[in-house]
Amino acid sequence: MKNGRVGEKGWNFEANDVLANAAKVTIRGTLETIMSNIDCGETRSTISLCLGDPSVYPCFHTTPIAEDAVVSALRSSQYNGYAPVGGVLSARRAIAEYLSHDLPYKLSPDDVFVTVGCGQSTHIALSVLARPGANILLPRPGYSYYEARAAFSGVEVRHFNLIPERNWEVDLDVVESLADEKTIAMVLINPGNPCGNVFTYQHLAKVAETAKKLGILIIADEVYGYLTFGSNPFVPMGVFGSVVPVLTLGSISKRWIVPGWRCGWLVTSDPNGILKETKIVDGIKNYLTISSNPVTFVQGAIPQILGSTGEDFFNKTIDILRQAADICVERIKEIDCITCPCKPEGSMSFMVKLDVSRLVDILDDVDFCCKLAKEESVLIIPGSSVRFKNWLRITFAVEPSSLEDGLQRLKSFCQRHAKK
Ligand SMILES: *Cc1c(COP(=O)(O)O)cnc(C)c1O
Repeated sequence: MKNGRVGEKGWNFEANDVLANAAKVTIRGTLETIMSNIDCGETRSTISLCLGDPSVYPCFHTTPIAEDAVVSALRSSQYNGYAPVGGVLSARRAIAEYLSHDLPYKLSPDDVFVTVGCGQSTHIALSVLARPGANILLPRPGYSYYEARAAFSGVEVRHFNLIPERNWEVDLDVVESLADEKTIAMVLINPGNPCGNVFTYQHLAKVAETAKKLGILIIADEVYGYLTFGSNPFVPMGVFGSVVPVLTLGSISKRWIVPGWRCGWLVTSDPNGILKETKIVDGIKNYLTISSNPVTFVQGAIPQILGSTGEDFFNKTIDILRQAADICVERIKEIDCITCPCKPEGSMSFMVKLDVSRLVDILDDVDFCCKLAKEESVLIIPGSSVRFKNWLRITFAVEPSSLEDGLQRLKSFCQRHAKK
């Protein structure tokens, strides 16, 4: 043993290094590096254009309907015990109803598993599907949690690109060329994180046909479902559930802006019962038997949260996000070294292209973000962290005045470093 001093042979245990490798690829790791550049003597406040959690801003406060729902569930004394495996029945029923609105078939409560946020849904999906030698197709740029979970589950990752010139549509030819008989699934995030795009019905139909041809299922991460403000409406992948089996992942974290409440779902959108036949449903139940549930009283509040939140709350959030996205697009136009190929139409972040050849003393996107943090106390995630080098990922779910301030600092930084 390397580190042991106790006893003759030292300690027998050591941390699982698969974990360390998995954690390394998440955005959190990059963020720590970038934050370490912030100047301690800086008097201006730090502006983060990289947080996925706008609940810190008063304009993104959740609806009182959701808060009251949790309070009454807690006060009712009905939710002090353990919840059944799969979740509280009334919550499963409410989620099935909520998601069935836009589907050509009806989901049943049995199709729904209540999870500890969409993050746990991701974990469940990958753990259930992981088999020796299996590979999974992930989008690039993407959400690095999937790479981390795949690494931890021992699933090989193969990346397909999203194409900026085509409003971040999936490169389906590449998907076909990557897949083989060991490919189990492809992940699609819609509305897109980090691209801020919203896939059209026609494109999703093509994705479904491709997946069917390849014999793989689709993991549809719809955690930003209905958070759209452009011309494309949100179409759930489950619409194509009779073409190809879909695992729909979601939560209340983003639409209700309560990521700390840790309540989400994993849903089998599969009217033909293929996921039962292939024992994926049993796998999910087995997983949940050895895992833990989200807090019972939050589950108890779900029927009221999903059923009673009015359009006015959703519209207010959408209006702020649209305004924030517009501010970003306008300000970016004033910056020579950054271009925005696609106006964001949904979610809370988007990708812009950085032209380092127009800058002096900036090596690449990572260097750009480190120096930006140091000189302007503005935090942006470099594209490299989402596997798109020399791009930047900007989160616009920021209170508009802070956003303006942050973008102004970004502009000053670029001007100061511009080639003369
Ligand atoms: C935020 C996010 C998640 C995690 O959602 P939680 O409900 O907070 O666990 C999953 N996928 C994507 C794409 C996200 O942006």
